[in-house]
Amino acid sequence: MPLTNAKLTPLWWDGLDLRPKRAPLPGDRQVDVAIIGAGFTGLWTAYYLAGLEPTLHIAVLERQHVGYGASGRNGGWCHAAYPLGLTMLVKDFGPQRGAEFERALNGAVAEVGRVTAAEDIACHYQRGGRILVARNPLHLARAREEAEEYRSFGFSEEDMRFLSADEASEMVGADGVIGGTYSPHAASLQPAALATGLADACERRGVRIYESTTVDSFAPCAVRTDRGLVTARHVIRATEAYTPQFGNVRRKIAPLYSHMIATEPLPEEVWAELGLHDRPTFADYSPSLIYGQRTHDGRLAFGGRGAPYHWRSGVADQFDNNDAVHMDLVRVLRDFFPAVESAEVTHRWGGPLGVSRDWRPSVTYSPETGLGFAGGYVGEGVAASNLAGRTLADLMLGRDTELTHLGWVNHAWRDWEPEPLRYVGINAGLWLAKSADRAERRSGKDSWLGNVGDWLRGKRG
Ligand SMILES: Cc1cc2nc3c(=O)[nH]c(=O)nc-3n(C[C@H](O)[C@H](O)[C@H](O)COP(=O)(O)OP(=O)(O)OC[C@H]3O[C@@H](n4cnc5c(N)ncnc54)[C@H](O)[C@@H]3O)c2cc1C
Repeated sequence: MPLTNAKLTPLWWDGLDLRPKRAPLPGDRQVDVAIIGAGFTGLWTAYYLAGLEPTLHIAVLERQHVGYGASGRNGGWCHAAYPLGLTMLVKDFGPQRGAEFERALNGAVAEVGRVTAAEDIACHYQRGGRILVARNPLHLARAREEAEEYRSFGFSEEDMRFLSADEASEMVGADGVIGGTYSPHAASLQPAALATGLADACERRGVRIYESTTVDSFAPCAVRTDRGLVTARHVIRATEAYTPQFGNVRRKIAPLYSHMIATEPLPEEVWAELGLHDRPTFADYSPSLIYGQRTHDGRLAFGGRGAPYHWRSGVADQFDNNDAVHMDLVRVLRDFFPAVESAEVTHRWGGPLGVSRDWRPSVTYSPETGLGFAGGYVGEGVAASNLAGRTLADLMLGRDTELTHLGWVNHAWRDWEPEPLRYVGINAGLWLAKSADRAERRSGKDSWLGNVGDWLRGKRG
């Protein structure tokens, strides 16, 4: 699987005219709501707000083009996931509110499907569920533990079930599968197509989207851009990994990079071996985070984390491609599916995702200042941003709904440490996670390094 001929842009951008095609802000404007960033968070917020209150003037301000950020680059896993898992979710909010939150995330997966159908968004949404395979005894123990965890918090087999070796390998023809888990609360989709389709749907509802418009700073009722000043009663920051550029919120989010590769379309005889017939999203139970999907046109799109954190929360186009991480992804994919050995890698890319100091996401809005934001999804934002958008819309309109009582509403985390502590701390954590993964792959045994990594991320309380 050579990388040499791979295009250095996301597979998802092929065939979509993603260059800025909407006009920039034409000078100073007064609106009701100004939203910074045209990724999923900004677009879902605008979409629901315009649906609930069609008379509002809503402006979305985007520096590049719709779907330029993580929303147009991700693995297309639309699934219900709290970054630290169900146990921490229940620990954070209690058994009842934790389970409510999990159900709301599950509902977001269905809601994305409902809207894509209603708005005729051709993003190849397929509700094939999520399968995590176990490929060694340690994975298997984690799979059992996760299935039991769901049972203990009142979820049924309909929400998450343990799979025998036969069941799991029937679904995913990966090498050495000895079991796994299956959750129906996940869909595969083409993320950039969702972002562009959603932007069109927003415009049909009267939302104005201005591309090639850089926000330089924001404050209550005022957003300064390179094209003029926008005054607005409500100002929503939807800039996730790009947040540290703004002086007033510089240490709220740390950007981490995730990278992906995509193969050429694979022949039917290879798919007969690999399975993934209903296009489930898939991964395994190793400590390093990997994610894959079978695309609608028969490719494998496969990603993982592992790139270093960049000094002073740096985000730049040159970080999108990382030879070492892409080579590692090829190695892991080959190990997973030996049948793809000779397949060509046609695309490789990467992008930044946003991590909060306590690895928990938040939807925050202040009626006093009119300022709000949603983010800190830690790479789990495809479905969560839909829930966040609906919640922000309710909060801005002062609606008292089930959503506005969810545990993440107005969750505040502390700032990341100043540099150089941030650089040293985050990269040490990433190194630990990577070393734990390597040690585990070598020995098939749990590693103390993994426990330290989990503890640093707050996963072990
Ligand atoms: C490679 C990769 C794989 C991932 N895989 C998955 C997955 O499979 N499933 C999942 O749930 N999550 C995944 N994620 C995370 C997910 O994509 C994000 O959580 C989600 O897209 C965040 O959406 P957002 O709208 O908050 O941010 P973004 O999509 O990053 O949008 C922010 C926008 O703000 C704009 N902007 C920045 N600065 C300014 C400025 N000054 N002025 C105006 N506009 C500005 C940017 O150009 C960008 O368009 C992945 C992320 C990456 C990078």
